[in-house]
This record gives sequence, C-alpha cells and structure tokens, in this order.
Amino acid sequence: MKAAVFHGPQDVRFEEIDAPALADGDVLLRVKACGICGSDLHTYKHGMFQQLGNPIEQGRVLGHEFSGEVIATGGPIPGVNLGDRVTSIGVGANAEYLRIPKERVAMLLPIGDKISYAEAATTEPLATSLHAANLANAQDNEIHLVVGAGIIGLGILQCIKASSNAQVIVADLSEKRLAKAAELGADRLIDVRSTPLVEALDGGSNFSEETLLDANIGTIDTVYDCAGMSKHFQGSSVLEQALAVVKENGKIVVVAVYEQSPNLDYNQIVRKGIQLMGSWAWSMEEFKIAADLIRKGEIDRQPLISHEFSLEQASEAYETQLRAETAIKVMFTP
Ligand SMILES: [Zn+2]
Repeated sequence: MKAAVFHGPQDVRFEEIDAPALADGDVLLRVKACGICGSDLHTYKHGMFQQLGNPIEQGRVLGHEFSGEVIATGGPIPGVNLGDRVTSIGVGANAEYLRIPKERVAMLLPIGDKISYAEAATTEPLATSLHAANLANAQDNEIHLVVGAGIIGLGILQCIKASSNAQVIVADLSEKRLAKAAELGADRLIDVRSTPLVEALDGGSNFSEETLLDANIGTIDTVYDCAGMSKHFQGSSVLEQALAVVKENGKIVVVAVYEQSPNLDYNQIVRKGIQLMGSWAWSMEEFKIAADLIRKGEIDRQPLISHEFSLEQASEAYETQLRAETAIKVMFTP
C-alpha cells in the first residue's frame, strides 16, 4: 500500500509498504483523510515524539488525525459494517489503509454523511482544543486570550464560542490566520508583528513592586498558549508574556510544546496567584464530544482545512504544514 514514511528529521518519503494483516476482531479502514498534527511537525523538524508513529521496517508511519471507510473486518463484528464512515484513535494513518486492532474497535465513531472525511479527520485536534477549553471553563462575562491561531488555537476559540458568551481575543503573526479567527467569531485580533501583547493589552511589561500593588494589573481572565517557543524563536516566549497580561488569580493554559525552556519570572506566578495549567491531549469522553460537535454541525471545521495532498506528495505536504503563514491544516487525502 502507499504510505508516507518518516525516516528522520526533514525526511518523510512516499513509499510502498506492506498492507496490514487482519486478526480476528480487527477492522481495516481505507484512510480517506489524515491531517498533519503539530506533534508530527515536531517529529518532522527535530525527531521529537517519534514514539507517536507506528514502527515499520524502514521507519515509522505517522498520522493520528484520520477518518476512513470500513472495508474489511476480521470476522463478523456486531455494530460494524462494510462502508461505515468513521473516525477513531490510533497511529499510522499517513497511509492508504489502517488496521484498527480489536481492543480499539469500540472507539470507532460514526461521522454520519453530512460532513466530509476531511472535516471528520479534525476530530482529534478539536478534542485537544476542547480539553484546553475545559480546563479554563469560560464564563459569560470573561475575557479569554488565545495566542497562536493554528488549528488548536482556532479550535479553542470555537469551543469557547460554542459554550459561552465570553469574549475571545486572538493573537497571531499571520494575517491569514487572524482573518480566519475573525471569520470564526473572534471579538478582537492582535497582530503581534506590529503590537506586542503586553502593549496591546496594557499588561505592563516591566514587573515591579509598583505594578504589583496595582489591583488592575492584567486584564485577561485566561490565556491559552498555543504558540510556545520554537528553537528558532527570537525574544521572549508567549508564556513570559502571558504572565504579564493575565489578571490576578487568572489562568494560563499551556497547550504548545516548547522546543526549548523559556526563562520565567516565577515570583510573578506566585504574587499574581496565577493558575498555570498544562494541557495534553484529551479524555475519551472529550474525543467523543468533539466527534459529536462536528457530526451535528455545531462546530464547522471546513474553514480550517487549508491544503490537501496525496501520499505521493508526502514531503511537500510536511513542508507546507511548516509554513505557518499560509497553512492551517494540511490533509492527506489518499
Ligand atoms: Zn494531533
């Protein structure tokens, strides 16, 4: 079968590999869409998270944001029929076919027939956004700031808007991504290329005894850090800036994966009473809710799909997803 195989940093190749064999109770999907995830990109750039790929003889097959059609089963399986349109959890979906092992068949989720396979393949990143949004639990009169308008940040915006009347500010350095945030209902945009966050939000970039005594320091109830700091990043990290702009007793939810550790003023966390939370992945319940939100049309994921490629274009697809200025979600549609 066709596959995009990861051999090492910056080296993803289109190859023919053996199709998976089915054991009793397994299900075989024909992959119809598979997105390139931020974690796949960290693997592509630096070799991080290689364990998230499915090992094969020559390398690893990445890809865990997928949807597909059931084309074979290992014997009859109650509730599973050939032709079912589904999404699920698993890895190795940058390929033509994917085996769902028996123990995960219960997590095959129907996607209905109103949405595209590509939209359904964004269930996993939406679950990641939902988990982050759930950690902060936005209330109607709050102001939330999403830094980084990639698919995770935009998904957080969608989750907050679907569940509350909180105001959402979105900051990014790509015009295209900011325009997308506006389209999805952001109340205010900050282009951090022209205005640094702390200036735009009057958070006070210089942390001093005087600013500490000012009860109004910071205006934001919750900051979501969906940008982090890459190894090529200049200047202070989003997390450092978040500490300045979040209000007293506010929350910071870190979803981004840092490729290097930022310098933090820990006393700022203490003196402002900040709740600093890491957000990693999602619960099974959140995955199912994300799938429902998409299937029922309560959250529209179509605007987030920026590019589609065949597996033959594997390396072009990864290079495209790297270009944050233009790409939001790059999909393989084998
Ligand atoms: Zn992912």
